[in-house]
Amino acid sequence: MTVYVYDFAQGNKDQKDLLGGKGANLAEMTNLGLPVPPGFTISTDACRAYLAAGTEPSELAEQVSARLSALEETMGRRLGDAADPLLVSVRSGAKFSMPGMMETVLNIGLNDESVHGLARLSGDERFALDSYRRLLAMFGSTVLHIDSEHFSRALDAAKSARGTTADLDLDADDLRALVETFKQIIRDQAGREFPQDAREQLDLSVRAVFNSWNTDRARLYRRRERIPEDLGTAVNVQTMVFGNFGMDSGSGVAFTRDPASGNQGVYGDYLQNAQGEDVVAGIRNTVSLADFEKLDKTSYDDLIAIMAQLERHYRDMCDIEFTVERGKLWMLQTRVGKRTPGAAFRISRHMRDEGLIEADEQLSRVTGSQLASLMFPRFDASADKVLLATGMNASPGAAVGKVVFDSPTAVAWVERGEDVILVRKETNPSDLAGMVVAQGILTSRGGKTSHAAVVARGMGRTCVCGAEALDVDVEAKVVKVRGGGELREGDVISIDGATGEVFAGAVPVSPSDVVRYFEGEDVDADVVLAVDEVMTHADSRRRMKVRANADTAEDAARARRFGAEGIGLCRTEHMFLGDRRELVEHLIVAEDSAGQEAALDALLPLQRADFAGILEAMDGLPVTIRLIDPPLHEFLPDYTELSVKVALAEAAGGADPHDVRLLDHVRRLHEQNPMLGLRGVRLGIQIPGLFVMQARAILEAAADRIEAGGTPLPEIMVPLVASVRELDVVKRDILAVAEEVQAARGVEIDVKVGTMIELPRAAFLADRIAASAEFFSFGTNDLTQMAWGFSRDDVEAAFFSKYFEHGIFDVSPFESLDQRGVGGMVEMGTQKGRATKPDLKVGVCGEHGGDPASIHFFETVGLDYVSCSPFRVPVARLEAARAVLGTDA
Ligand code: PEP
Ligand code: MG
Repeated sequence: MTVYVYDFAQGNKDQKDLLGGKGANLAEMTNLGLPVPPGFTISTDACRAYLAAGTEPSELAEQVSARLSALEETMGRRLGDAADPLLVSVRSGAKFSMPGMMETVLNIGLNDESVHGLARLSGDERFALDSYRRLLAMFGSTVLHIDSEHFSRALDAAKSARGTTADLDLDADDLRALVETFKQIIRDQAGREFPQDAREQLDLSVRAVFNSWNTDRARLYRRRERIPEDLGTAVNVQTMVFGNFGMDSGSGVAFTRDPASGNQGVYGDYLQNAQGEDVVAGIRNTVSLADFEKLDKTSYDDLIAIMAQLERHYRDMCDIEFTVERGKLWMLQTRVGKRTPGAAFRISRHMRDEGLIEADEQLSRVTGSQLASLMFPRFDASADKVLLATGMNASPGAAVGKVVFDSPTAVAWVERGEDVILVRKETNPSDLAGMVVAQGILTSRGGKTSHAAVVARGMGRTCVCGAEALDVDVEAKVVKVRGGGELREGDVISIDGATGEVFAGAVPVSPSDVVRYFEGEDVDADVVLAVDEVMTHADSRRRMKVRANADTAEDAARARRFGAEGIGLCRTEHMFLGDRRELVEHLIVAEDSAGQEAALDALLPLQRADFAGILEAMDGLPVTIRLIDPPLHEFLPDYTELSVKVALAEAAGGADPHDVRLLDHVRRLHEQNPMLGLRGVRLGIQIPGLFVMQARAILEAAADRIEAGGTPLPEIMVPLVASVRELDVVKRDILAVAEEVQAARGVEIDVKVGTMIELPRAAFLADRIAASAEFFSFGTNDLTQMAWGFSRDDVEAAFFSKYFEHGIFDVSPFESLDQRGVGGMVEMGTQKGRATKPDLKVGVCGEHGGDPASIHFFETVGLDYVSCSPFRVPVARLEAARAVLGTDA
């Protein structure tokens, strides 16, 4: 029989797959002897079984009954008992935390009878009724899918009838009336009574948590965070403790270090007489932990001691949810806390200094994508700025965009190419779509643990929250700025997530400290010291080399400063654009070989100068130069446009003869499927002079470098090879040029000739191709296109959103390698190539060379290097090292 239900005492923190993150950590805390209200966890197995069958597994009800009886025994109370009710909470908890995405129901077990029992036992009728109205609202919205607005409107009405805006001013009579109103809302909106049977409340809440796995917002969140669709969530059923038991009670959230900056020292918010989400919902202003100490020294001291214990135990920054019930501290949750990229690096350094972790573990604590965020620009300190307000620095970054007030507008404006800042009083899970697309998020209420802050940090999105000088009216779409002025939809603002500042207009941005450090500047910032420490260790640990994709001397030089160990892909076609396009045109329209040669002769010195610059920037390091790849018509005028031009000119009395000739060639070269047409090595075979000219330019540039005392290491790469014979045909010519240049210049050039592997056939026949190739470089862009039959220029916009919806893939295979399919070809091609030539150098130069998950895959396949854009080189260095350690990407 499958076990679906586990007591907290039965699990531990490493069982997140089965118990979810929350359940596993509740179990861990229980076993550490911390004050955790007792309870049990319904496993993710149960959720998956439910989602697959559309109904709970048959054993579940019985197993819940058994655990519930045990819990009732421990607590000496029965669920929903009229005189002395046991009350429980039902909370979701997936393997990966999905803040605000899934459901919670508190105070289960209250009904028209037991609410009196609770009132009598507690001696506090107001408290009992407050708990009941909360249950009705949460159950109504979560389980019965009633728009929560109905409940909040009724609550607001009750408050205004009292002439107040504070929940706490409502007395028992108000709450009694509210309970009746809420029950009526349920009747009206759901067409049923609120279930009085406590077990029914429990079972329906558990089912609601299962179902919440598949809400739109949960799916969207998973797609963004690349969380697999099929994990399911666990459900935690836990004895209630009450933070709404009066002013000596309350609930809070805390971090063992500041999650925004990484500074040492505890950090958190506490709200007296509050339950559940109150503390993060921004309904009342929270107090800091320092003020909590003044309110309740005993609970504060207990909390600090527990936080220290948890940090030592987890050896990481933890976040915590706690409740104080009449002066007694209870722990409701802990987990390794989310943090900003800067905080991640700083905390890793501090913890290493403190002896909590070692260098390898430090590497596992930071990610390439965090490093990438630290490389984003920030606001220029010297620019003139108009400060509108200062809020909390909830999630760093410098964001500029137009003010929008709601998610649909944010999405629509971003779709038409605008940058937006989503401005709200506070956010809730239904704002997720807008938060995803916005450059930044600005709220006027809520602290660093508010929904906006937590979600923005998790997504790496810039966020300023609690900017109280802004009065946000979402309905009227206007922000009144204290001290004068207002902002309307479409006005441009700039928000600084590192300082919490909000500026009018677009503030210019300047490079980040981390980029300045990579550029070789001396930057005195703690985060830079941390990055330096991590990168130094990463470079000592990684096996794979990191090269850059660069086509200009400037890019090559920058890549080298960023730590690139050569060029993995120089796309020479970029050198045929601009002024030189005309020379390509001459080549194509040439009437005879003399005309062709003249065109090629004109291109030669230009190409030579390009290569000389790149070889100089990468002196002493390998530079892979790929011969021209795309179809020639890409360098010619558009077929339709030219046809129209010629037709119009003819109608007006005569077209330019050059245009007429050109049109002829454009027509001749026009292809239905140019990506599958005359490109790459095929072009090299069709117009042999082209590759030969390029090879000559490379070799002559190398000879020049040698004469100037340099050490050029060119590698000539042939694109789109499918057969060893293709390679042989062009290689023969290249080698002949090499002989000739070396003889003529009296130098010996260390040059290699190799090939891209970017067609499935090449991967299958890599053993044969390796006989003629001195190196391989996987072109995973084309390999993905050819493997899936996806046109790389069209499909992402055309239909990928449907593919995500159906879970066909979680991420575009053009962005992160399809490891099973395309990756299988990379693995096979590598093995076959090395079966022929054991020391064959194999790299990758598709976009995947800079993608963390793909880099980890390439490590397992044993590639010699990855190559990516210069800006991603540091990310690749870090991830290549993390891959050696076996850390998740
Ligand atoms: C590739 O196909 O992966 C590649 C690097 O070449 P390109 O993107 O230029 O086709
Ligand atoms: Mg390619």
